[in-house]
Amino acid sequence: MAPSKQSGPARVGFFGGTRVGFFGGTFDPPHRGHVALARLAMQTLGLDKVLVAPVAAQPLKRDRQATPYSDRLAMTRLALGGEPGMELSDADAPRADGKPNYMLETLRELETELPPSAQVFVICGADAFLTIQQWYCAEELLMRYPFVIGARPGFDLSRIAQALPESISVAAEENREAGLLTLGLRGEQERQSRLYLLPDLSEDISATELREALRRPGAAPEFLDGAVLGYIRAHGLYRD
Ligand code: ATP
Repeated sequence: MAPSKQSGPARVGFFGGTRVGFFGGTFDPPHRGHVALARLAMQTLGLDKVLVAPVAAQPLKRDRQATPYSDRLAMTRLALGGEPGMELSDADAPRADGKPNYMLETLRELETELPPSAQVFVICGADAFLTIQQWYCAEELLMRYPFVIGARPGFDLSRIAQALPESISVAAEENREAGLLTLGLRGEQERQSRLYLLPDLSEDISATELREALRRPGAAPEFLDGAVLGYIRAHGLYRD
């Protein structure tokens, strides 16, 4: 049976602030592009905290066997190091029922642990957002939680509006300022939400490229934190 939640990572009960970023991902391995996105989202949106949550079973990446969850959790802890306001979260730990981790379910559970006044923002990269129509209950997710979307080389931020589910449209460009574009969304029954786009992020790296580089003996990819690389070496990860 899959292990249930572990005790190590921070629990949300410790929050004092009310604007909470949720940044989920495979993080296999976590790299500087991930940290840069979380940092920029935090600074630009004035978030009190960003929860960084490795996902045990990412519903859209089931074709590839990921590195064990416990290793990804440990590497993510190291990658975050002393980043102010960023906390490792086990909100997407392996589920006892063996199902994939659906973000909407994770966030609903997370919200029960947050103060009622808390607003959760979902942080993701442009590539991930472009698949939003395939996400579990995408409409509900988008209407309940404002998304903060970071640019990523090779993925066109101008296609974000086209990626929305049919029932959701961009009602207005609410604000355009240096480093931030805010779009108002309208869904069914006049529900409203927002998308925040961060056009200035430009981290040309992916975990796939890093895994390939790590197969070469002695490689020390520059986009990896030194402590993460040390963990990878010590545990013999990504050798084949
Ligand atoms: P892989 O290559 O294995 O698919 P990845 O590098 O895309 O991995 P994930 O762990 O899947 O990393 O990404 C988690 C989140 O971080 C996603 O929302 C993704 O869009 C975002 N992200 C990852 N790398 C970058 C990057 N270089 N710039 C902006 N966003 C990124």
